Amino acid sequence: QPARKPRGRQFFANPGPTNIPDSVLLATAHQTVDFNDPNFIEVYDACVAGLKRVLKTTQGLFLYTGSGHAAWEASLVNLLSPGDRILILESGYFSISWANMAKDLGIEVQSVAADWRRGVDMAAVRAALAADTAHGIKALCVVHNETATGMMIPIPEVRAALDATGHPALLLADTISSLGSLDFRMDEWGVDACVGGSQKGLMLPTGMSFTGVSAKAMEAHKTSRLPKHYFNWTNMLARPHRSFVGTVPVSFFYGLQQSLRLIEQEEGLENVFARHTRLGRAVRAAVQHWSGNDGPQLFCLNPGRYSDSVTAILMPEGLNADALRSVALQRFNLSLGGGLGPLGGKVFRIGHLGDLNEPMILGTLATVELAMKVAGVPHAPGGVAAAIDALA
Ligand code: PLP
Repeated sequence: QPARKPRGRQFFANPGPTNIPDSVLLATAHQTVDFNDPNFIEVYDACVAGLKRVLKTTQGLFLYTGSGHAAWEASLVNLLSPGDRILILESGYFSISWANMAKDLGIEVQSVAADWRRGVDMAAVRAALAADTAHGIKALCVVHNETATGMMIPIPEVRAALDATGHPALLLADTISSLGSLDFRMDEWGVDACVGGSQKGLMLPTGMSFTGVSAKAMEAHKTSRLPKHYFNWTNMLARPHRSFVGTVPVSFFYGLQQSLRLIEQEEGLENVFARHTRLGRAVRAAVQHWSGNDGPQLFCLNPGRYSDSVTAILMPEGLNADALRSVALQRFNLSLGGGLGPLGGKVFRIGHLGDLNEPMILGTLATVELAMKVAGVPHAPGGVAAAIDALA
């Protein structure tokens, strides 16, 4: 490939990390301050309160310097003991990665298998819980929005399965690519621990993650025996910020203060969700149009579970998604997400979450269509017009 000579602004259409608003970038570029300085504590406390509002919880919150994997690990080591069993609802690459982490930590993993294009069957979830009459399953883990496949799993239905079977397992939810983009209600949905990260709907750089923690989860934490230190919630509660075993990453909080201002005050959380719904629908309208002429298709085959923050697009048989992504990037400076795990080369992904509007999504879709034409990928031309119709 010839060296890329980007002109204009890169269109960054990855499903995370995402575009960072200029005002958040500027806020993040803050001079170092002492993390115990009362002026900083004020900013910190306001951020923690704001993050809880976005999570829709009045319960606990712990923050970590580390990407989403850190919060995944924190949720497991703080709640479980060696040999405990968890039930994980398979959704795709990220559910499997969380399960693999649990296995590495000495946790026994039971999965509810699923067709990645249709998503887990709630009857199978209920059956797995009902069969566990001895209540050996200590936690049920679900990825709210599977970033690898573009599918949202309805958490209230998972809660209902636990309630219907009277199963006492903790409910753990990964909200990494849903929080601040799709509706999520920790307390109302009875989630005991939820995992979130800075670099998606919150529109911040990568490197900070957190877990919302229910009172029931805090009780379970007291008897959990998996080894932990940096992620130990008890250690954290003894620290001045009641989070972070170590230096607090202050610049994140100046950025978070601004992103919360944008989400809650300038736009409004419910309007943020509505914007993601609109943009997600437009992307799907384009892909559904392209799928004519044996073109690429929506990977997700379950309309009730379409993700409004990311769309995975399945290439026609025999064509490599990464070749198309390479044309988009090298020739047109459009960065698209790739396929993960077994979907590598088979799908490409358009992220439509975070700091995004109609012109950005239309520019992305037009450039995907251009790249398909240049790369010789069959498709029905006119996907952008379909997206315009969806938006108008
Ligand atoms: N869970 C989901 C749903 C994700 O999309 C990601 C990353 O994209 C992760 C977990 C892992 O987070 P991180 O890459 O920030 O460690």
